[in-house]
Amino acid sequence: MLFRQLFHQESGTYTYLLGCEESKKATIIDPVLENSQQYLKLIEQLDLNLSMAIDTHTHADHVTALGELRDLTGCTTVMGEHSKADCVSKTVGDGDVLEIGSIELKCLYTPGHTNESFSFVSGNRVFTGDVLLIRGSGRTDFQGGDAGASWDSIQGKLFTLPEQTLVYPAHDYKGWTVSSIAEEKRHNPRLTGKNRQQYIDIMNNLDLPDPKMMDIAVPANLRCGRSS
Ligand code: FE
Repeated sequence: MLFRQLFHQESGTYTYLLGCEESKKATIIDPVLENSQQYLKLIEQLDLNLSMAIDTHTHADHVTALGELRDLTGCTTVMGEHSKADCVSKTVGDGDVLEIGSIELKCLYTPGHTNESFSFVSGNRVFTGDVLLIRGSGRTDFQGGDAGASWDSIQGKLFTLPEQTLVYPAHDYKGWTVSSIAEEKRHNPRLTGKNRQQYIDIMNNLDLPDPKMMDIAVPANLRCGRSS
């Protein structure tokens, strides 16, 4: 499998490109509108065809490229079944498996950061969106976020994956690029040695400002990033 991690500096967003070398089919996870041309160039340079674009959740800090990539390539757009973005062409439920050539992506419903967040497992990699970050976890104070649900998703689903599974989040702000389930079990300051109530107390007292782009990004993303 071809695998690339891309970064959108302004929002600290990671985007992932997965390509099947036999079928030449590719999928992209959490693409950012401003970087669409970069993705398309890379896809062309790697001799791939984009067949699917996926958002782990409705982002509040950047505008998604799902609609643009669909319009330019005809790819399928995918989100979890609880998303309010009815612009997507396909929704997935917990346990569903997406196939992109020989690549399989298992869909895990992992609410908490938002009530519609999904994670995606492919082999020894998990794409966690903003539910589980590296040495952190996604805020739970808007878009149906729920600290208890976040704990349950992380402990009950993500931390039951094999320990060597590599963790690829949708964001990082501190220079981390990849972690593992084992590392996050042992070294995540919000989770390690904490119980559910302690985690809820931490998350409910983060007191973070709203993302700068929120008022623009959320409505735009409910239209897959298109202006109308
Ligand atoms: Fe988010």
